[in-house]
Amino acid sequence: MNSEISFSIKDDSISEILQRYQSNTTITKNDALVLLESTDILSILKLSASLKTRFKKDVITYSRKIFINITNLCRDFCSYCTYRKNPFDSSSIMMKPAEVLNLSKIGKKFHCTEALIVAGERPEERYTEAKIWLRQLGYTSLAEYVIDISEKIVKYTGLLPHSNLGNITKEEMKLLKMYNVSLGLMLESSSEKLLEKGMSHEFAPSKNPSKRIEVIKNAGRMKIPLTTGLLIGIGETKEEIINDLFLLKSINNEFGNIQEIILQNFQPKRNTRMQGFPSPSNDYFLKIVSIARLIMPNMNIQIPPNLSPRSFSSFIDAGINDWGGISPVTIDHVNPEFLWPKIEELKYITESKCQRLRARLPVYPEFIDKHDFISSHLRNYVENFIGLDRLVKEEYLVEFR
Ligand code: SF4
Repeated sequence: MNSEISFSIKDDSISEILQRYQSNTTITKNDALVLLESTDILSILKLSASLKTRFKKDVITYSRKIFINITNLCRDFCSYCTYRKNPFDSSSIMMKPAEVLNLSKIGKKFHCTEALIVAGERPEERYTEAKIWLRQLGYTSLAEYVIDISEKIVKYTGLLPHSNLGNITKEEMKLLKMYNVSLGLMLESSSEKLLEKGMSHEFAPSKNPSKRIEVIKNAGRMKIPLTTGLLIGIGETKEEIINDLFLLKSINNEFGNIQEIILQNFQPKRNTRMQGFPSPSNDYFLKIVSIARLIMPNMNIQIPPNLSPRSFSSFIDAGINDWGGISPVTIDHVNPEFLWPKIEELKYITESKCQRLRARLPVYPEFIDKHDFISSHLRNYVENFIGLDRLVKEEYLVEFR
């Protein structure tokens, strides 16, 4: 982790670095940092966009989903978060199974394929109300509930669950894998400095980087397709961002299970300790996305379009190939201030950059036929949605773009 961060900026010109890259398609940490410091954004973007075309053709994907906010209670307190609630807040949520299934059925009517299940971090460890809610449903932990409801979602709607529950154990992961086509866990940052007094993760022990990295590696050991990524602008340095991109690359080289890297730009929220912090500038964020493509030319790289409402099309020029989950039904409960673009708008903007918008499942095509990565319980449901290219069949979506 941070102990590895000791690279110095060499005096290489940007064009030398880019030329070197073109001859061997690899980049050092030093060179990546020089690019991040550079003002020659266009040259970097030109290269990353060409890599995207080389490795991902002219397709940009999204996952058509419903967002199941199963509970927003959380044991942690991140300084930027407005998602978490206390049980006495009027907007706290503890969904019952019938509510989850009703929402899933609505998602099915709108031709969604993904049931995204999101929760705060182990709320039962902090709140008696959460314990009672779970006990009344017959569970001792949130993970137990999600394992069970995932099976019911599949059985009653055919939607494919993708759960994001924070740090989970190997045993929980194993059981979730039976009815989740993939799982999500943001690394956010491997900077331990963020746990210190006054920093963004001071009161969020679950964001301890070594714990998060272990969960990401465990997903790899268990052959679980994993969505992970970085949250940019929460107090980390440029060196740490570069280091984290290399870290995720090395984990994926070892386990081959990272299906997608989300690069998320921090957005300050009112009434949080970080409300006065700036979000990263568009140019800076573009360079990070571009450099991520250079470091991992074949990786699926996503930016959430709702968090860059005025400029998301520019990230096509930086080499992204995915817009993440978009819902025609539910809002982004983590960022309710930022509405997702309509899918028609996304299609228009994607096509205006000479790209094709295609719906993917919450598991990426390259993992669908990878041995042992998809549970046998899910195989038929997955096949039901997809064509030979392993993307969602156009005819499934035709009525409800
Ligand atoms: S970001 Fe996640 S872990 Fe942090 S407070 Fe919010 S819900 Fe909890």
